[in-house]
Amino acid sequence: MPAIPNRAASETGDPLLLTPGPLTTSKSVKEVMVHDWGSRDATFLKINREVLARLPEIVNATDSFVTVPIQGSGTFAVEAMLTSFVPKKGRVLVLINGAYGHRANRILGIAGRRTTVYETPEDTPPDLRRVEAILKRVKSITHIFAVHCETTSGVLNPVHEIGALAKKYGKGYLIDSMSAFGALPLDANKAHADAIAASSNKCIEGVPGLGFVLCRKSVLPGLKGNATTLVLDVHDQWANFEKTGQYRFTPPIHVIVSFHQALTEFFAEGGQKGRGGRYAANGKVLIDGMRAMGFKTLLPDTLQAPIIVTFHMPKNPKFDFQRFYDALKDRGYVIYPGKLTVADSFRIGCIGRLYEKDMRGALAAVREVVTEMGVALPVT
Ligand SMILES: *Cc1c(COP(=O)(O)O)cnc(C)c1O
Repeated sequence: MPAIPNRAASETGDPLLLTPGPLTTSKSVKEVMVHDWGSRDATFLKINREVLARLPEIVNATDSFVTVPIQGSGTFAVEAMLTSFVPKKGRVLVLINGAYGHRANRILGIAGRRTTVYETPEDTPPDLRRVEAILKRVKSITHIFAVHCETTSGVLNPVHEIGALAKKYGKGYLIDSMSAFGALPLDANKAHADAIAASSNKCIEGVPGLGFVLCRKSVLPGLKGNATTLVLDVHDQWANFEKTGQYRFTPPIHVIVSFHQALTEFFAEGGQKGRGGRYAANGKVLIDGMRAMGFKTLLPDTLQAPIIVTFHMPKNPKFDFQRFYDALKDRGYVIYPGKLTVADSFRIGCIGRLYEKDMRGALAAVREVVTEMGVALPVT
């Protein structure tokens, strides 16, 4: 393979990740990790306190919510949230339109929690009238679970409207906001949320290793005894922080120090508005440019979150996805294969330390690769 003269690279020379997280992070976010700290080190504990204190600000809930960190990837935080907030006798209305909704349902099944599933296709948000009808019919429902941006397709779900129904029917409300947190507006109080789960390695642009659950303070004391595991017990983790200010078990110290740097950069960019604005601009450049080459998005613009975009696979038999993927990677752009049931597709993310110029670079690479495969433009 001949060297590619215009190969794109991050600040540290790595390919750009056009994926939904882990994603491309700034050099400074990685650089702060070149030290060692003990888990009882005062400097680390101060950094950790600042991280936990600032996260609720992002959902406008500094007074009413507290952050409970959970070591591990985002799913660890989702599992901690579901198994700690839903009591053994609870029943969760699980709203599913993709892989992460299915995963939550699986977690609840393993934990022996009863569920009522309302599933819609991957390109379709739940119908709020149907949600309300289910709440009226199934009286034993105690909680509603929703995914904010279902990263499977990139579809935006109506989390605030679902919350209004949770409030109307007196249900607990648990949100997986993983891929949206920090980029899309979410007001924890207006959404009537009890808990919101997210992680270090998505729109805050940190490295992977820390999940967290933003918890309504008034609900936390009542969670004692709900958990099904020791490590994912949100109540116990919270109670221990209240008592000692420390983690129960070894924290991912470097990840947390780096997450602190990522948060500083996030707020310097203007918080959710600034970060979300950059991603929206990235998304628009990407979608307009791909459409100009004949690619079609799975979702209409009204349902598309500026996080990850699903494109239909071109029908032209000369379009070979593996070749497309590899040739883009050779040019420094790593995209994301699709695993949708509704359509043969692939996905391109627009989050992480990426700017409009990077999206334009990716578009130029797509044009080059498609032409190289002998697929005529616009693609069909
Ligand atoms: C990324 C993501 C998760 C967590 O995935 P991990 O691989 O455990 O980090 C959960 N829900 C959604 C919607 C996500 O995008």
